[in-house]
Amino acid sequence: KSNTPSLENFWMPFTANRQFKAAPRLLASAEGMYYTDIDGNKVLDGTAGLWCVNAGHGRKRITEAVERQLRTLDFAPTFQMGHPVAFDFAERLAAIAPGGPDARLDRVFFTGSGSESVDTALKIAIAYQRSIGQGTRTRLIGREKGYHGVGFGGISVGGLVNNRRVFPQIPADHMRHTLDIERNAFSKGLPPHGLELAEDLERLVALHGAETIAAVIVEPMSGSAGVILPPKGYLERLRAIADKYGILLIFDEVITGFGRLGTPFATDYFGVVPDLVTTAKGITNGAIPMGAVFASRKVYDGLMNGPEGQIELFHGYTYSGHPVASAAGIATLDIYEEEGLLTRGAGLADTWQDALHSLKGLPHVADIRNLGVVGAVELTSRDGAPGARAYDVFVDCFRKGLLIRVTGDIIALSPPLIIEKEEIEKIVSILGDALKRAQ
Ligand code: PMP
Repeated sequence: KSNTPSLENFWMPFTANRQFKAAPRLLASAEGMYYTDIDGNKVLDGTAGLWCVNAGHGRKRITEAVERQLRTLDFAPTFQMGHPVAFDFAERLAAIAPGGPDARLDRVFFTGSGSESVDTALKIAIAYQRSIGQGTRTRLIGREKGYHGVGFGGISVGGLVNNRRVFPQIPADHMRHTLDIERNAFSKGLPPHGLELAEDLERLVALHGAETIAAVIVEPMSGSAGVILPPKGYLERLRAIADKYGILLIFDEVITGFGRLGTPFATDYFGVVPDLVTTAKGITNGAIPMGAVFASRKVYDGLMNGPEGQIELFHGYTYSGHPVASAAGIATLDIYEEEGLLTRGAGLADTWQDALHSLKGLPHVADIRNLGVVGAVELTSRDGAPGARAYDVFVDCFRKGLLIRVTGDIIALSPPLIIEKEEIEKIVSILGDALKRAQ
């Protein structure tokens, strides 16, 4: 089409992707539940952008807050100084922080993205251990199929091997992963062997010695690996083992934070409280890049006043607590709170589940999983071409006016939390038709 710009210069993996070049999908504007592509076609956003536009697109309140802030104070360094907007935002976040009224992780460290939040949490964990006299605890444990962004910290603890295939030196001696989580097992009635998965942490403790391990990091519900739900008891058991050995527990809530599961955070949904929580994405409704790490008082106080004295954790980014991002974040929280979006998913979950499961029995459907307002439809692989069928379905859906996300053979869905029943039905209808057409 003539509207398509040159795809040569902007270098991201997806533009290098031959499939993308064969069928470019370029988005020009967005409002509410819909994108409009460069040819003027409306596309229902089944993915909240990239799991982030939880309040829907084009929210005027955020636009106005950003504009106002840009006119007032466009940038201020947060090293050795500050500005009220970031402090106000931290206070607002502290009031809803993961952990519930009695155990809120209400110490907030601002970053610029999910990957930065992960790096920050890992560094805080090691520094905390050192501060309380546990300086030998430098190992970090992630999980098979875990995704924690693409910074060096994230790929070191991450369990999606493709993300570190070209960096073989990175999963150094101090990085180990617990067992793979068997995804199908998770969707079918939450079977008991989640406990065995958690038990693998015991094996690693026995192998390496608790005195070498600083923290374990997991996504409470893994997103990028294809919406894998934790089996009953798994997170509780991780918490118990971590406590037993003085290991910190980190939940990566970059996807699950800010209402995705029908609670403000997955921490609240599962009722298991970690020591650190990483967030980004929904924190500003996707409008301005930002992230935040939530730390418990125990971690914060240990770091600041541990027996070894305050550790000089030289850490912080140029854009930590950026005034414009903070203003966007405050406006986002205003919307979330006024419209009840942080818990709206709880009321939608049944409708969402019924709609998704109506796809059962359609061609190529191998498994359907859902939690809160997240869904996954896993397809069977086309012979010899893993992922090809799902990719075709993705292109077909886009042409028919629905944006979905695919990873391998898995279709992931995570629409904005303002979604109504008729839009849920539209998602299922377009997707269902595409599945029937798929080869
Ligand atoms: N952690 C998790 C669980 C994520 O899903 C992501 C992004 N999808 C990240 C970290 C990285 O976030 P970002 O892309 O903002 O760096």
